[in-house]
Amino acid sequence: MKNAFLVMYCEMCGKNVQKTQRVRVEDTILMLCDSCSRFGKPLDPVKKEVRQVVIERPAVRPVATYVPKVKKPKVQKSTNQEDLFVAPEYAQIIREARERLSWTQEDLAAKLLEKKNVLAKVERGELQPDMKLARKIEKLLDIKIIEKY
Ligand SMILES: [Zn+2]
Repeated sequence: MKNAFLVMYCEMCGKNVQKTQRVRVEDTILMLCDSCSRFGKPLDPVKKEVRQVVIERPAVRPVATYVPKVKKPKVQKSTNQEDLFVAPEYAQIIREARERLSWTQEDLAAKLLEKKNVLAKVERGELQPDMKLARKIEKLLDIKIIEKY
């Protein structure tokens, strides 16, 4: 007699079965036997909730960890200023050239329209002249301190 309570009806084929599943068929949720349940999508509300939580987490994480790869802009191969640099031994070259001309630091600074402090730092190797100043120094002292890569 107990078995009678276990018998269920499939809502699609009407068979008496021991087990039915909640299955979504289009917009209707039906209790179906195993063979009919393949016509719809199995429904499991508990699992669905769990899955939603799991989906939400990775959706947040990539935002924090995702680092877009930025391609470095290609440097043009040419003879423009990017290929030029001031020789590492600029300080010595400048000082020796100035002393050959018997100019004081003030003399050279004045001709360069720079402060004496600036020139002193340059000659001590503490301040690398930018390209503009380096070119002026080259012309004035007839030396070469700008090099090309
Ligand atoms: Zn069925």
